[in-house]
Amino acid sequence: MTRSKSTAERPGGALRCLVLLMTGLLALPAGAGEQPSEPDIADVSEDTTLEDGAGSAAKAPDAAVEDAGFADDGLPDAEEEPQDDVPLADAVTEAETDEAEALWLLGEKVEPGTSARLNWSATELFEGVPVSTPVLVVNGRKAGPVLCLTAAIHGDELNGIEMVRRVMHDMIPEKLSGAIIGVPIVNVQGFRRGSRYLPDRRDLNRYFPGNPRGSAASRIAHSFFTRVVMHCDALIDLHTGSQERYNLPQIRADLRDPDVVTLTQGLGGMVVLHSTPARGTLRAAATAAGIPTVTLEAGGPSALEAGVVRQGVTGIETLISTLSMQRRRSIWGDPEPVYYRSTWVRADSGGILFSDVSLGSSVRKGDLLGTITDPVSNARAELRAPYSGRVLGMARNQVVMPGNAAFHLGIVDDTPEDLATEEPLVETEQKTEPTGDYVDGMSE
Ligand SMILES: [Zn+2]
Repeated sequence: MTRSKSTAERPGGALRCLVLLMTGLLALPAGAGEQPSEPDIADVSEDTTLEDGAGSAAKAPDAAVEDAGFADDGLPDAEEEPQDDVPLADAVTEAETDEAEALWLLGEKVEPGTSARLNWSATELFEGVPVSTPVLVVNGRKAGPVLCLTAAIHGDELNGIEMVRRVMHDMIPEKLSGAIIGVPIVNVQGFRRGSRYLPDRRDLNRYFPGNPRGSAASRIAHSFFTRVVMHCDALIDLHTGSQERYNLPQIRADLRDPDVVTLTQGLGGMVVLHSTPARGTLRAAATAAGIPTVTLEAGGPSALEAGVVRQGVTGIETLISTLSMQRRRSIWGDPEPVYYRSTWVRADSGGILFSDVSLGSSVRKGDLLGTITDPVSNARAELRAPYSGRVLGMARNQVVMPGNAAFHLGIVDDTPEDLATEEPLVETEQKTEPTGDYVDGMSE
C-alpha cells in the first residue's frame, strides 16, 4: 500500500483496501451496504444552504445483510478489488511489513518514522496579512492509510482542538502504520475572535470543496481541500453543538456509503446518527471525492469539556487501533445504538427554558422534556417528546423565542424501512426556512 503524495493521485486506496477487508469481518448495519451513494456536490453554491443532514435522516433498513462481503458491493470507484476471502490478519501482516514512504504535504517532506509541524495558509487572505494554520503530521515507520483529523472549522468549537492535540501526541512514529494528519484549528480567524464564522460572517463549512475564484470562504475552502484534505484516505471532522446547544458525543455519518459505515464501526462505542451531509460541508465534499468522512460531534461551543474530550479521543484511538495503524492498550467495545432518524423539538412560545432531562437521557413518547415560562405573564408551556428516543442534543437553559430548537431526539424506530427511501419524515420545515447564518439545530 502506498500513500497519496499529490492531489493528482486518487486518495482512498490504502484505507479502502484495509477497510474493505475489515468490513468482511464486521456486520454491516442492515442494508447499508446495498445503497452506496454519491452526494451531489458538483455545483458549489456561493450561498449558504439550509439542508439539514440530521433532520433529514432517512429511514432505517429492514433486513440484515446475510453476506457482508464486498465482492458485489457496487462501489463505483474502488481502486483495488476487494478480496473477501482474505482474512484481516493477513492484510495487516502484509501492510506492516511494508516500509512507509516519505509523505509530501504542503511542500514539505515528512520522512517515515518522524513527525512534523507544517503550516497551511490559504492562497487568498483577508487584509493581505498571512494567516498560518498549523498542520501536525505523524508519518509512521510502516505503510498504511492516511487518517486526517480536522477541528475548529467553526472557530468557537474547542473540544475538537484538544482531541487533536491528545491524539497526535499519543502517536509513536516508530510504531505507527500509515500517517495521521491533524489540523487542530482550521478556522484560525474565527478562533481568534471566539466566533463560529469567518470574518465575513460566512460559515466555512458550507463552502467545500471550494472554488479558487469564489468568495473568500470558497477560496479558503478550496485551498484547504486541495492542499490538505486530498491527501487523506479517511477523515474525521470534529465539531460541537452550536449556539448554546450541546451534543452527546456522537458520530454523524451517511450510512448509505459502505466505506463510511466501516469508518463508523471502527470508532467504537459511540452513538451513531445517520445523516446525509449538507451541501458544502467538508463531510459531503470529502466523501464525494472518495475520502470516507464522518463528523464527530461532542459537547458545546466555547467550552472545554473534559468528559466529552475523553470520549472523543477514545473513539478516535479505537479507530486507529481498528485500522491496525497503532495498537492501543484498551479498545472501547461497548456498542451504542445507531439512530436512523432524529428530530428537533422546538419552542412554540417565548420565555425561559428549563430542561427536565439531561443529555443522553432516554425518553418515551409524551415524556416532559422541559418547560418554557413567560417571565411577564407567568404562562407556562411544556415541551414533550413526540417520539420515544434519546436526547442527543439540547439547548442550555436560556431565554428562547418561538421556533428555537430545544431538544434533539434520536428516534427509536420500531418499523424501519429501506434507507434509500430518503424521505425526511421530520424537520421538513427546515428546507423552507430562509437562509440564515447557521443551520438551526445542527452544528456541522
Ligand atoms: Zn461545527
